[in-house]
Amino acid sequence: MLKIKSKQLYRVKITIEKFILEMILPNRCVRCQRGGGIFCDRCKKYISIINPGYVMNDMYGFEKLLVAGLKEGWFERLVRDFKYRGRRDYGEFLADKLGEVIFGEVKRMKLDDRSSEVKRMKFDDRMSDKSGDEPVEVLRMKDVEIQEIRKIVLVPLPTIRKHIRERGFDHTLRLCFELENFLSKKLEGLGVKVEYEDLLVRKNKTVQVGKEKKERMKQAEKAYEIREGIEIENKTLYILVDDVTTTGASLAAAKKILQADRVWAAVLMKER
Ligand SMILES: [Zn+2]
Repeated sequence: MLKIKSKQLYRVKITIEKFILEMILPNRCVRCQRGGGIFCDRCKKYISIINPGYVMNDMYGFEKLLVAGLKEGWFERLVRDFKYRGRRDYGEFLADKLGEVIFGEVKRMKLDDRSSEVKRMKFDDRMSDKSGDEPVEVLRMKDVEIQEIRKIVLVPLPTIRKHIRERGFDHTLRLCFELENFLSKKLEGLGVKVEYEDLLVRKNKTVQVGKEKKERMKQAEKAYEIREGIEIENKTLYILVDDVTTTGASLAAAKKILQADRVWAAVLMKER
């Protein structure tokens, strides 16, 4: 109950903030200086063609790592300004770009599910031709296959408190807020519900920069814990969301803490 209330408050806060920003910021595109919003449609199209998002399979122990774009050019600049220079107004564009990659993969997964359903039906027909009961084992296997994803929970990797204070906002939470908006509309037709939940909390203030990979991994594992009273649902697809990943150590550690059946990771860009 409390969680829902704080989510609503956050939504109100963002709406007011956007309204004020629209009034005070010049309504010009940051790339081409034309009118039509902070990023005009032409420039959005340009970036999506020149620097499309991509998917990496079996990465950092995740079934899928979804990346919004390569670390270069305008895209890199937008990510940096969003993260370090308080340009929260870039959040929507960046989230939409990452959202397109997530949407593409979820859509594909749903289509795969459907085709495996057809195969299963054919298999059922064959089985019923033969007389006799099916072994329990086969029935159980089918049950597992039938489990289809109906819900996606976006989980922000918790930002260090000190960084939130310095930057004036929690950029990863903001990213998840915008992602929820974008994906809910897109995935409604596929019967998938999307919401963000900040399920993880940060335990210590350790910054990982410049440490050995093994050391980073160890520290990362100690950095997070799951919020009290949270129940992980086994038919839900969890997507861990982070801004930039370097070694994947934080993501892998968060996945370990989350202990969900199905977890993907989504980031704006990959450092190397
Ligand atoms: Zn433009």
